[in-house]
Amino acid sequence: MSDTLLELDCLSVDYETSRGDLKALRDISFDVKKGEIVGIVGESGCGKSTLISSILRLTAPNTRFREGEIRFKGRNLLAASEKQMRDLRGADMSIVFQDPMQTHNPVLTIGRQMLDIQHRSRSPKAEKLARAARMLGALGIPDPEARLKQYPHEFSGGMRQRIAIAMALMSEPDLLIADEPTTALDATLEVQIIERLQELQREMNCAVLFISHHLGVIAELCDRVVVMYAGAVVESGEVREIFHNPKHPYTRRLIDCDPGHIKTRARVLPTIPGEVPDLAALPQGCVFRDRCTQAMPHCAAQVPPLSKLEEAHHAACWLNHGEVPA
Ligand code: SF4
Repeated sequence: MSDTLLELDCLSVDYETSRGDLKALRDISFDVKKGEIVGIVGESGCGKSTLISSILRLTAPNTRFREGEIRFKGRNLLAASEKQMRDLRGADMSIVFQDPMQTHNPVLTIGRQMLDIQHRSRSPKAEKLARAARMLGALGIPDPEARLKQYPHEFSGGMRQRIAIAMALMSEPDLLIADEPTTALDATLEVQIIERLQELQREMNCAVLFISHHLGVIAELCDRVVVMYAGAVVESGEVREIFHNPKHPYTRRLIDCDPGHIKTRARVLPTIPGEVPDLAALPQGCVFRDRCTQAMPHCAAQVPPLSKLEEAHHAACWLNHGEVPA
Protein backbone atom coordinates (compact mmCIF):
# COMPACT_ATOMS: atom_id res chain seq x y z
CA MET A 1 0.00 0.00 0.00
CA SER A 2 1.31 3.45 -0.90
CA ASP A 3 2.53 5.64 1.97
CA THR A 4 1.72 8.81 -0.01
CA LEU A 5 -1.07 10.79 1.62
CA LEU A 6 -1.26 13.95 -0.47
CA GLU A 7 0.01 14.30 -4.01
CA LEU A 8 0.00 17.38 -6.20
CA ASP A 9 0.57 16.42 -9.79
CA CYS A 10 1.39 19.18 -12.33
CA LEU A 11 -1.17 21.51 -10.73
CA SER A 12 -1.77 24.84 -12.49
CA VAL A 13 -4.27 27.34 -11.09
CA ASP A 14 -5.24 30.75 -12.53
CA TYR A 15 -7.41 33.59 -11.28
CA GLU A 16 -9.51 35.20 -14.01
CA THR A 17 -9.21 38.97 -13.62
CA SER A 18 -10.02 42.05 -15.71
CA ARG A 19 -6.27 42.26 -16.51
CA GLY A 20 -6.26 38.70 -17.83
CA ASP A 21 -5.37 35.38 -16.20
CA LEU A 22 -3.24 35.66 -13.10
CA LYS A 23 -1.05 32.57 -12.98
CA ALA A 24 -1.16 31.77 -9.25
CA LEU A 25 0.25 28.23 -9.45
CA ARG A 26 2.22 26.74 -12.31
CA ASP A 27 2.98 23.06 -12.73
CA ILE A 28 3.22 22.27 -9.01
CA SER A 29 4.24 18.71 -8.16
CA PHE A 30 5.18 17.35 -4.75
CA ASP A 31 3.84 14.86 -2.25
CA VAL A 32 3.37 14.44 1.49
CA LYS A 33 3.80 11.00 2.96
CA LYS A 34 1.84 9.63 5.93
CA GLY A 35 3.21 11.01 9.20
CA GLU A 36 5.64 13.36 7.41
CA ILE A 37 6.10 17.10 7.98
CA VAL A 38 6.63 19.05 4.77
CA GLY A 39 7.42 22.77 4.89
CA ILE A 40 6.38 25.24 2.19
CA VAL A 41 8.47 28.40 2.16
CA GLY A 42 8.52 31.53 0.03
CA GLU A 43 7.79 35.27 0.04
CA SER A 44 4.32 36.80 -0.14
CA GLY A 45 2.91 36.22 -3.60
CA CYS A 46 4.65 32.88 -4.10
CA GLY A 47 1.34 30.99 -4.16
CA LYS A 48 1.21 29.51 -0.63
CA SER A 49 -2.35 30.70 0.05
CA THR A 50 -3.66 29.51 -3.32
CA LEU A 51 -2.01 26.17 -2.66
CA ILE A 52 -3.82 25.75 0.67
CA SER A 53 -7.20 26.90 -0.62
CA SER A 54 -6.83 24.59 -3.64
CA ILE A 55 -6.13 21.55 -1.45
CA LEU A 56 -9.15 22.37 0.71
CA ARG A 57 -11.18 23.37 -2.39
CA LEU A 58 -12.09 26.65 -0.70
CA THR A 59 -11.14 28.90 -3.59
CA ALA A 60 -12.49 32.23 -4.81
CA PRO A 61 -15.19 32.08 -7.55
CA ASN A 62 -12.74 33.36 -10.19
CA THR A 63 -10.35 30.43 -9.61
CA ARG A 64 -9.69 28.17 -12.58
CA PHE A 65 -7.98 24.81 -12.19
CA ARG A 66 -6.24 24.68 -15.55
CA GLU A 67 -4.29 21.44 -15.28
CA GLY A 68 -3.20 18.70 -12.96
CA GLU A 69 -4.62 16.83 -9.98
CA ILE A 70 -4.62 17.02 -6.19
CA ARG A 71 -4.83 13.47 -4.86
CA PHE A 72 -5.60 12.78 -1.22
CA LYS A 73 -5.40 9.10 -0.25
CA GLY A 74 -5.42 8.39 -3.97
CA ARG A 75 -8.65 10.31 -4.72
CA ASN A 76 -8.55 13.35 -7.02
CA LEU A 77 -9.97 16.19 -4.92
CA LEU A 78 -10.63 18.34 -7.99
CA ALA A 79 -13.20 15.76 -9.11
CA ALA A 80 -14.80 15.32 -5.67
CA SER A 81 -18.32 16.60 -4.97
CA GLU A 82 -18.91 19.44 -2.48
CA LYS A 83 -20.41 16.91 -0.04
CA GLN A 84 -17.35 14.68 -0.32
CA MET A 85 -15.12 17.72 0.38
CA ARG A 86 -17.24 18.72 3.39
CA ASP A 87 -16.83 15.21 4.78
CA LEU A 88 -13.05 15.42 4.38
CA ARG A 89 -12.58 18.93 5.83
CA GLY A 90 -12.29 18.94 9.59
CA ALA A 91 -12.20 15.15 9.70
CA ASP A 92 -9.43 13.76 7.47
CA MET A 93 -7.76 17.12 6.90
CA SER A 94 -7.86 20.23 9.05
CA ILE A 95 -6.19 23.62 9.15
CA VAL A 96 -4.71 26.10 11.61
CA PHE A 97 -4.68 29.68 10.34
CA GLN A 98 -2.20 32.46 11.01
CA ASP A 99 -4.51 34.76 12.97
CA PRO A 100 -6.11 33.05 15.98
CA MET A 101 -8.54 35.99 16.41
CA GLN A 102 -10.17 35.16 13.10
CA THR A 103 -10.28 31.44 13.80
CA HIS A 104 -12.68 31.53 16.74
CA ASN A 105 -16.26 32.74 16.86
CA PRO A 106 -16.12 35.69 19.31
CA VAL A 107 -19.70 35.22 20.58
CA LEU A 108 -19.47 31.52 21.51
CA THR A 109 -17.54 29.99 24.38
CA ILE A 110 -14.55 27.82 23.54
CA GLY A 111 -16.44 24.83 24.96
CA ARG A 112 -19.42 25.44 22.66
CA GLN A 113 -17.11 25.70 19.65
CA MET A 114 -15.25 22.53 20.59
CA LEU A 115 -18.58 20.71 20.94
CA ASP A 116 -19.65 21.93 17.49
CA ILE A 117 -16.46 20.55 15.98
CA GLN A 118 -17.44 17.10 17.23
CA HIS A 119 -20.82 17.22 15.46
CA ARG A 120 -20.06 13.96 13.65
CA SER A 121 -19.60 12.05 16.92
CA ARG A 122 -22.60 10.37 18.58
CA SER A 123 -20.97 10.46 22.03
CA PRO A 124 -22.84 12.15 24.89
CA LYS A 125 -22.19 15.86 25.48
CA ALA A 126 -20.31 15.23 28.75
CA GLU A 127 -17.91 12.90 26.95
CA LYS A 128 -17.33 15.45 24.18
CA LEU A 129 -16.62 18.16 26.75
CA ALA A 130 -14.19 15.89 28.59
CA ARG A 131 -12.44 15.21 25.29
CA ALA A 132 -12.26 18.95 24.55
CA ALA A 133 -10.75 19.58 28.00
CA ARG A 134 -8.20 16.81 27.45
CA MET A 135 -7.16 18.40 24.13
CA LEU A 136 -6.80 21.83 25.73
CA GLY A 137 -4.73 20.27 28.50
CA ALA A 138 -2.53 18.53 25.92
CA LEU A 139 -1.82 21.93 24.39
CA GLY A 140 -0.79 23.32 27.77
CA ILE A 141 -3.94 25.31 28.66
CA PRO A 142 -4.13 25.31 32.47
CA ASP A 143 -7.41 24.43 34.21
CA PRO A 144 -9.02 23.35 30.90
CA GLU A 145 -12.46 22.37 32.27
CA ALA A 146 -13.06 25.89 33.63
CA ARG A 147 -11.64 27.57 30.56
CA LEU A 148 -14.07 25.80 28.27
CA LYS A 149 -16.68 28.20 29.68
CA GLN A 150 -14.73 31.28 28.58
CA TYR A 151 -14.92 33.34 25.38
CA PRO A 152 -12.02 33.83 22.93
CA HIS A 153 -11.34 37.41 24.09
CA GLU A 154 -10.55 36.08 27.58
CA PHE A 155 -7.43 34.30 26.27
CA SER A 156 -4.04 35.68 25.23
CA GLY A 157 -2.94 35.44 21.57
CA GLY A 158 -0.67 32.47 22.34
CA MET A 159 -3.47 30.63 24.14
CA ARG A 160 -5.92 31.30 21.30
CA GLN A 161 -3.48 29.75 18.87
CA ARG A 162 -3.00 26.71 21.14
CA ILE A 163 -6.80 26.36 21.22
CA ALA A 164 -6.91 26.60 17.42
CA ILE A 165 -4.37 23.76 17.19
CA ALA A 166 -6.35 21.73 19.75
CA MET A 167 -9.51 22.22 17.66
CA ALA A 168 -7.73 21.24 14.44
CA LEU A 169 -6.39 18.06 16.05
CA MET A 170 -9.67 17.06 17.76
CA SER A 171 -10.63 14.78 14.90
CA GLU A 172 -7.13 13.25 14.72
CA PRO A 173 -6.82 14.18 11.04
CA ASP A 174 -4.48 12.40 8.64
CA LEU A 175 -3.32 15.80 7.36
CA LEU A 176 -2.93 19.04 9.29
CA ILE A 177 -2.34 22.18 7.23
CA ALA A 178 -0.62 24.81 9.38
CA ASP A 179 -0.72 28.20 7.65
CA GLU A 180 1.95 30.34 9.34
CA PRO A 181 0.52 29.36 12.75
CA THR A 182 3.23 31.09 14.78
CA THR A 183 3.80 34.25 12.75
CA ALA A 184 1.68 36.44 15.05
CA LEU A 185 3.40 35.18 18.22
CA ASP A 186 6.58 36.22 20.01
CA ALA A 187 9.70 34.05 19.76
CA THR A 188 9.30 32.28 23.14
CA LEU A 189 5.70 31.32 22.47
CA GLU A 190 6.62 30.24 18.97
CA VAL A 191 9.17 27.74 20.31
CA GLN A 192 6.70 26.37 22.88
CA ILE A 193 3.95 25.91 20.31
CA ILE A 194 6.26 24.31 17.75
CA GLU A 195 7.55 21.84 20.35
CA ARG A 196 4.01 20.90 21.41
CA LEU A 197 2.86 20.57 17.82
CA GLN A 198 5.81 18.29 17.13
CA GLU A 199 4.99 16.08 20.14
CA LEU A 200 1.32 15.79 19.21
CA GLN A 201 2.16 15.11 15.57
CA ARG A 202 4.35 12.20 16.67
CA GLU A 203 1.67 10.87 19.04
CA MET A 204 -1.03 11.01 16.37
CA ASN A 205 1.28 10.24 13.44
CA CYS A 206 -0.55 12.78 11.28
CA ALA A 207 1.13 14.43 8.31
CA VAL A 208 1.66 18.19 8.46
CA LEU A 209 1.91 20.68 5.62
CA PHE A 210 3.60 23.58 7.38
CA ILE A 211 3.52 26.92 5.57
CA SER A 212 5.93 29.57 6.83
CA HIS A 213 8.37 32.25 5.79
CA HIS A 214 10.36 31.59 8.98
CA LEU A 215 13.20 29.34 7.90
CA GLY A 216 14.33 28.61 11.48
CA VAL A 217 10.96 27.02 12.27
CA ILE A 218 10.97 25.06 9.01
CA ALA A 219 14.49 23.74 9.77
CA GLU A 220 13.45 22.76 13.31
CA LEU A 221 10.18 21.06 12.46
CA CYS A 222 10.13 19.69 8.92
CA ASP A 223 11.41 16.54 7.24
CA ARG A 224 11.28 18.01 3.73
CA VAL A 225 10.99 21.52 2.28
CA VAL A 226 9.38 22.89 -0.87
CA VAL A 227 10.62 26.37 -1.87
CA MET A 228 8.13 28.34 -3.97
CA TYR A 229 8.64 31.48 -6.02
CA ALA A 230 6.04 33.31 -8.14
CA GLY A 231 3.66 30.36 -8.22
CA ALA A 232 6.19 27.64 -9.00
CA VAL A 233 8.37 25.19 -7.09
CA VAL A 234 12.01 26.28 -7.54
CA GLU A 235 13.63 23.79 -5.16
CA SER A 236 12.60 20.86 -2.98
CA GLY A 237 14.37 18.25 -0.90
CA GLU A 238 15.26 16.94 2.54
CA VAL A 239 15.45 19.75 5.06
CA ARG A 240 19.19 19.23 5.84
CA GLU A 241 20.07 19.11 2.16
CA ILE A 242 18.18 22.33 1.38
CA PHE A 243 19.69 24.28 4.28
CA HIS A 244 23.26 22.96 3.92
CA ASN A 245 23.48 22.60 0.18
CA PRO A 246 20.90 24.87 -1.51
CA LYS A 247 21.04 24.69 -5.30
CA HIS A 248 18.80 27.56 -6.32
CA PRO A 249 19.95 31.21 -5.99
CA TYR A 250 16.53 32.15 -4.52
CA THR A 251 16.85 29.54 -1.74
CA ARG A 252 20.39 30.78 -1.01
CA ARG A 253 19.15 34.38 -0.77
CA LEU A 254 16.27 33.36 1.49
CA ILE A 255 18.71 31.61 3.84
CA ASP A 256 21.10 34.61 3.75
CA CYS A 257 18.22 36.91 4.73
CA ASP A 258 17.03 34.75 7.64
CA PRO A 259 17.83 36.57 10.91
CA GLY A 260 18.93 33.23 12.44
CA HIS A 261 21.74 32.99 9.88
CA ILE A 262 23.11 36.51 10.25
CA LYS A 263 26.37 36.33 12.16
CA THR A 264 27.38 40.02 12.27
CA ARG A 265 25.52 42.91 13.88
CA ALA A 266 23.82 45.14 11.35
CA ARG A 267 21.45 48.08 11.55
CA VAL A 268 19.49 46.94 8.51
CA LEU A 269 18.44 43.35 7.88
CA PRO A 270 19.36 42.01 4.43
CA THR A 271 16.62 41.63 1.83
CA ILE A 272 16.41 40.27 -1.70
CA PRO A 273 16.37 43.34 -3.97
CA GLY A 274 13.49 43.61 -6.44
CA GLU A 275 9.97 42.24 -6.32
CA VAL A 276 8.06 39.11 -7.20
CA PRO A 277 6.99 39.50 -10.87
CA ASP A 278 3.44 40.39 -11.88
CA LEU A 279 1.67 37.02 -12.10
CA ALA A 280 -0.58 38.40 -14.87
CA ALA A 281 2.44 39.25 -17.03
CA LEU A 282 5.20 36.79 -16.21
CA PRO A 283 8.56 37.40 -17.87
CA GLN A 284 10.03 34.99 -20.41
CA GLY A 285 12.51 32.42 -19.17
CA CYS A 286 13.37 32.09 -15.48
CA VAL A 287 10.91 34.02 -13.29
CA PHE A 288 13.66 34.85 -10.76
CA ARG A 289 15.90 36.36 -13.48
CA ASP A 290 15.34 40.04 -12.61
CA ARG A 291 16.51 39.46 -9.03
CA CYS A 292 19.21 36.88 -9.68
CA THR A 293 22.86 37.97 -9.44
CA GLN A 294 23.96 34.88 -11.38
CA ALA A 295 21.61 35.23 -14.35
CA MET A 296 23.02 34.25 -17.74
CA PRO A 297 21.74 35.20 -21.20
CA HIS A 298 20.11 31.80 -21.57
CA CYS A 299 18.01 32.41 -18.42
CA ALA A 300 15.93 34.94 -20.38
CA ALA A 301 15.21 32.50 -23.17
CA GLN A 302 13.96 29.33 -21.54
CA VAL A 303 12.26 28.33 -18.29
CA PRO A 304 14.66 26.09 -16.32
CA PRO A 305 13.09 22.67 -15.66
CA LEU A 306 12.76 21.33 -12.10
CA SER A 307 15.54 18.75 -12.40
CA LYS A 308 16.53 15.94 -10.08
CA LEU A 309 20.03 16.67 -8.71
CA GLU A 310 20.28 13.96 -6.09
CA GLU A 311 17.85 11.51 -4.55
CA ALA A 312 14.85 13.66 -3.50
CA HIS A 313 16.64 16.97 -4.22
CA HIS A 314 15.23 18.98 -7.15
CA ALA A 315 15.97 22.53 -8.32
CA ALA A 316 14.90 24.69 -11.27
CA CYS A 317 18.01 26.64 -12.27
CA TRP A 318 20.21 26.52 -15.33
CA LEU A 319 23.32 26.74 -13.08
CA ASN A 320 22.77 23.10 -12.18
CA HIS A 321 22.90 21.98 -15.80
CA GLY A 322 26.39 21.28 -17.11
CA GLU A 323 25.40 22.56 -20.52
CA VAL A 324 22.54 24.91 -21.19
CA PRO A 325 20.63 24.19 -24.39
CA ALA A 326 21.41 26.50 -27.29
FE1 SF4 B 1 19.34 32.75 -11.80
FE2 SF4 B 1 19.35 31.75 -14.26
FE3 SF4 B 1 19.21 30.12 -12.19
FE4 SF4 B 1 17.14 31.65 -12.85
S1 SF4 B 1 18.00 29.99 -14.08
S2 SF4 B 1 17.92 31.32 -10.83
S3 SF4 B 1 18.18 33.50 -13.55
S4 SF4 B 1 20.91 31.46 -12.73
